[in-house]
Amino acid sequence: MFPKINIDLHGISENTKRVCDKCKNIGINVTAITKVFLADENIAECLVTGGATALGDSRIENLKNLGCFNMEKWLVRIPMESEIEDVIKYSDVSLNSEIKTIRLLNKEAYKQDTTHKVILMADLGDLREGYFSTDDLLSDVDKVLQMKNIELYGVGTNLTCFGAIIPRPETLQKLVKIKERIENDFDIELKVVSGGNSSSYTLVDRGEMIDGINNLRLGEVILLGNETSYGTPVEGLHHDNFILEAQIVELKEKPSVPIGEIGIDAFGNKPEFVNKGTMKRAIIAVGKQDVRIDGMTPVDSNIEILGASSDHTILDLTNVDKIYKLGDTVSFKLDYGATLAAMTSKYVEKEYVDI
Ligand SMILES: *Cc1c(COP(=O)(O)O)cnc(C)c1O
Repeated sequence: MFPKINIDLHGISENTKRVCDKCKNIGINVTAITKVFLADENIAECLVTGGATALGDSRIENLKNLGCFNMEKWLVRIPMESEIEDVIKYSDVSLNSEIKTIRLLNKEAYKQDTTHKVILMADLGDLREGYFSTDDLLSDVDKVLQMKNIELYGVGTNLTCFGAIIPRPETLQKLVKIKERIENDFDIELKVVSGGNSSSYTLVDRGEMIDGINNLRLGEVILLGNETSYGTPVEGLHHDNFILEAQIVELKEKPSVPIGEIGIDAFGNKPEFVNKGTMKRAIIAVGKQDVRIDGMTPVDSNIEILGASSDHTILDLTNVDKIYKLGDTVSFKLDYGATLAAMTSKYVEKEYVDI
């Protein structure tokens, strides 16, 4: 069935091993993040055998899938009040920034007769989650330490998500400073300093990572082979672990400019067209309901994507050497957003290729 996403388990395993080895060499554990692939067991297995020390996801629904792996599970989206019971049941560690939520976790952990580990998030300027004020964070540390069923596991930060702030050594140094202040002020030891996501891997790759960071939460760099500070492919990693394949349902020569008065398209945009004469055009059976079209790159670089609606994508095959026939399939590399959308769409078939 098409559209189909081909998932290269071998490539994912190799990427995991290379990334984890490189991190381990400088004392960094990797929490491998499974949200892009909805915590599929077969893919998660690659992360586990490749050397991840914990698995993390933003959704409890996904963490439930990972019960078969006997290792630490992290909830990496700060918990909702409505999911506290499941957070305690299905995760060992959660990232947090609200004392009210941590109190609920403590109460629930007591009820379930367990201890839950909490990482307090510091916002170092990206302006997504975390304490913006170090004083606020420190004053909550005092409260967390009173809680009998919560272990203060460490501190963490998240960058390059909302504000697109690039992790610099001096930025991450602030996190290490916060950890040291907590240890000094409260005479305790913190196990974890979690220095971010795939954008922080850039520092590891360049040999610029600072001492004191001992954990990264990595998804994209493992799965797609990209560091995400600058969005560049990391040398030595596989970049085509997820390939989308869609089938041609119409193949015709047509003009490049529509005929008649131009209004607005199916998504409310007013399209503009350049007259390139008659084109060899193909319609493939995949659309905005399945994938993020802007995040698709044809494997055959002579193919151009002209546009898409919910279920149709239109291609220009004029400059393509290969002769395509009706029923042939066309393959695309996917970026992070497109992979996320395709993996989440129930209309996209998932197939493993294990070479
Ligand atoms: C998604 C996520 C990650 C992983 O991000 P990548 O860019 O895929 O490495 C890490 N931490 C948090 C809090 C996340 O939400």
